[in-house]
Amino acid sequence: MGVAYQDYYQTLGIDRKANEKEIKAAYRKLARKWHPDLHSGKEKQAAEEEFKKINEAYEVLSDPEKRAKYDQLGSNWRNGEDFGTPPDMEGFRFYSNSEAGMGDFSEFFETLFGGAGFGRAKGTANRTGPIKGQNIETELQISLEEAYHGAEKSLQFTTRDLCPVCGGSGHNRNSFCGRCNGIGEVQAIKSLSVKIPAGVHEGSRIRLKGQGAESGYGGPKGDLYMIIRLKPHPVFAVNKADLENELVLRPEQAVLGDQVQVKTLDGTVTMKVPPGIHTGKRLRLKGKGLSYKGTRGDQYVRISIDIPGNITEEEERLYRELAVLSRGVKV
Ligand SMILES: [Zn+2]
Repeated sequence: MGVAYQDYYQTLGIDRKANEKEIKAAYRKLARKWHPDLHSGKEKQAAEEEFKKINEAYEVLSDPEKRAKYDQLGSNWRNGEDFGTPPDMEGFRFYSNSEAGMGDFSEFFETLFGGAGFGRAKGTANRTGPIKGQNIETELQISLEEAYHGAEKSLQFTTRDLCPVCGGSGHNRNSFCGRCNGIGEVQAIKSLSVKIPAGVHEGSRIRLKGQGAESGYGGPKGDLYMIIRLKPHPVFAVNKADLENELVLRPEQAVLGDQVQVKTLDGTVTMKVPPGIHTGKRLRLKGKGLSYKGTRGDQYVRISIDIPGNITEEEERLYRELAVLSRGVKV
């Protein structure tokens, strides 16, 4: 005894090589045609059956894992033919009918995939409960100071809500919903006030539970993932947890050394510049970088020496004296 083979490709009227988009398009077209709510009287029952078949075919072909499993059966089966001991069925898991439980899917489906209806279409077999809405990702640009100290920001993002006109069913009385085009969901732009914790970095992902898309299956909403992007900073360059900034010195400061004020994320600090420093040399302010995995990065102060363009007569005289002293020549 076997169960009747279902040709899902034939059901959707597509080629065995159809891609995801073609499958979806074919499904939508047929679902619109056969939606039970669009039929009445005698036709209704036939539509219901057809609609079930279409949904089952789509359930399998739209899921890469299920499709691969199904495709392994090969194309030699004719629609409705008894599906007994198929060739090359290694790796398949068969379910007895009592184990599978008959639901909205055909015996053939239950045999191949167990009682895996929409509620546990993907992932582990023992996952239960209604399907959660989709997770959504969005980016948020913040300043380095906000990343370091934490901040409260207003976040705008695009999500998908169940269609307010048809409530997600895709149809409205006897016609397909014009608002969502029969898809059941619409794009929505939302705004949220979000707390950015101190110590986030470029690329940090922050999860906002239950702020994602609404579920079309009565489950909870998906989550929203906020990806942190740092705006370029006028003073600091960021390299993972380290910061770098430039310090411009006058020639005599570079020669003689100095105590200078340097800007850090924690405010201004005094830094000692050793005598005889060169352009390009980097001085390290330990622990003045960003917090990262429990430690703190450093701040590197890159030295640049500025040659003054306008000098007083007195300064010029001293430079000439210096020239004589250091090179023994008068300039
Ligand atoms: Zn709608």
